[in-house]
Amino acid sequence: PARTSRPTWDGVGRLADGHRVKLLGNVGSAADASAAATAGAEGVGLFRTEFCYLSAASEPTEAEQRAAYAAVLSPFAGQPVVVRTLDAGSDKPLEFLPMGEEPNPALGVRGLRVAFDRPELLDRQLAAIAAAAADMGAELSVMAPMVATAAEAAWFAERARAAGIERVGVMIEIPAAALCAEAILAEVDFVSLGTNDLAQYVFAADRQLGAVAALNNPHQPALLRLVGMVAQAGAAAGKPVGVCGEAAADPTLAPVLVGLGVTSLSMNAAALAGVGAALREVDLAACRAAAER
Ligand code: PEP
Ligand code: MG
Repeated sequence: PARTSRPTWDGVGRLADGHRVKLLGNVGSAADASAAATAGAEGVGLFRTEFCYLSAASEPTEAEQRAAYAAVLSPFAGQPVVVRTLDAGSDKPLEFLPMGEEPNPALGVRGLRVAFDRPELLDRQLAAIAAAAADMGAELSVMAPMVATAAEAAWFAERARAAGIERVGVMIEIPAAALCAEAILAEVDFVSLGTNDLAQYVFAADRQLGAVAALNNPHQPALLRLVGMVAQAGAAAGKPVGVCGEAAADPTLAPVLVGLGVTSLSMNAAALAGVGAALREVDLAACRAAAER
C-alpha cells in the first residue's frame, strides 16, 4: 500500500519486534566518518584503510598511519570500529605497492595476499591501527580482506593478536571462504561478508563491467545461499556475521539478510536511514519468511 509518511530511524538498528541488528558505517576518510556519525551509525563496520593512501608515493610511516587512522576514528570514541587492513591490488592499486603485470588482477596478488611476501608491512599497519584506536578510545576490531582459507585466517589472526588486538576477523568475499566458514570461524572472532567481491567471484562477473552487472547482483539466490551458509556457521559458533558489501545498503534486501541470520549491516552514510526505517517495519518471522522465499 502507498504510504502517507515514511517511518523515521532513531539511530538504533532493530526490527519491529525489537530484534537488534547493528547498523554501521562504511568509511574511507574523516569526511566519511563524520557523515556516518551524523547519520546515526552505531559504529564503523568497514574502514577501508587503503583509501587513505591511494596516491601515496611511498609507504606511510607508522606515525603517519596512526595519525591518519585516528582522524577517521575520532567521531567513534567508545563505539565499535572494524578496521580493515590494506586491500591493495586489482581495482585499488597503491603506488607504493607495485604489483607487477598480472593477466587477471582480480585473481592475482591482492588483499591479504600482498602481506604474505611482506609481513612487516602488515605488522607496521597493525601496530598503527592499535595505537590509533587506543588514542581515540574506540572499541577496536581488525579484519583482513581477501582471505581464501582457514590457514590464511589463522596466519592473520596470529599476527593481529601479537600486535595486542583482541577482536580479530576476516572478510568472507571469496567463495572458498564462504564454503569453509566453519573452519575459518574457528580461527577468528567474527566474519564480515563482502558481497561486492563475493558476487564477482560467484558469478564470474567483473564488478567493474557494466555489461555483466545484471549477473553481479546480490538478489541472486546463489549469493544469498552462501550468505545463509556463513550466517548459520556463525550462529553455530556463537560469533557475529556482518555484511559490509553494497547488499547491506539495499533496504529491500536488508530484511532478507537479517532473515538469513546476519547480525550487523554496514553501509555508506546515505543509506543508513532508509535501511534503518525498512527494518523497523518487519519482524524476525517476516525476515525469515522472506529469506526462505
Ligand atoms: C566487498 O567486496 O563487498 C567489500 C565490502 O569490499 P570492497 O568493496 O572494498 O572490495
Ligand atoms: Mg572486497
